[in-house]
Amino acid sequence: METRKKRKSNGGTREWSEKTVNCCTGCTHNCRYCYARDNAIRYKQLTADQWPNERVRPHDVNRGRRKRFPGWVMFPSSHDITPTNLAGCLVFLDELLRVGNQVLVVSKPHLDCIEAVCEKFGDHQSQILFRFTIGACDDSVLSFWEPGAPRYAERKASLKYAFLKGFQTSVSVEPMLDTANIDSLVADLMPFVLESIWIGKMNHISSISKYVDEPTRNALAQLDARQSDAIIKGIYARHKDNPMIRWKESIRAVVGI
Ligand code: SF4
Repeated sequence: METRKKRKSNGGTREWSEKTVNCCTGCTHNCRYCYARDNAIRYKQLTADQWPNERVRPHDVNRGRRKRFPGWVMFPSSHDITPTNLAGCLVFLDELLRVGNQVLVVSKPHLDCIEAVCEKFGDHQSQILFRFTIGACDDSVLSFWEPGAPRYAERKASLKYAFLKGFQTSVSVEPMLDTANIDSLVADLMPFVLESIWIGKMNHISSISKYVDEPTRNALAQLDARQSDAIIKGIYARHKDNPMIRWKESIRAVVGI
């Protein structure tokens, strides 16, 4: 029988896309659990203080004609689309779409940015799948973990906007930041989801803990306790028959699917 230890992980963004592309360094959202920031600090590319000062990389934006990749191309994966970098992101997206790529747009969405993307790329609707990261519906939880990112109402409004404009919509509840209220989160967002809601645990907790301050380290330990196997199995049991729910590797490893 397969054990959790023996299971070869195919988690993370690879579950969604073989190819990830980015055009910016740093991220104003400054999430406490950010793995991209963790990597940037570990490889001495940026300090923690520098991370929130996002910078569009002109050589990536103005690269000229892009490749067409097989399958979905995920954009972005190591930053977000924010009011600060929107102009560069729109140019970058335009290049990707014009050569025929299918683009999975992943974001903790700012409504202004999503309106701009929908308006500019209305002719490319079939090539875009939005996946909005919404890990909790409680603003006190969101503002602790993701201090620079939009609050719940704006993320939900962005999802609703894209849905009503006829775009393909999906949600990522990864990492789950508030497992106690996952049922109400799913119920509240489901009417505006066309494709899927992905649910996953917080990953890399021990690695992230090395690079964060004491309050964050304590909060990570508490969050880890709230994603125990018993709690994850309960969530799975309540939602396993919902065909819109997809389970990330971190959940599949616990429930044995
Ligand atoms: S939105 Fe993504 S890239 Fe930006 S800080 Fe948060 S986890 Fe990192």
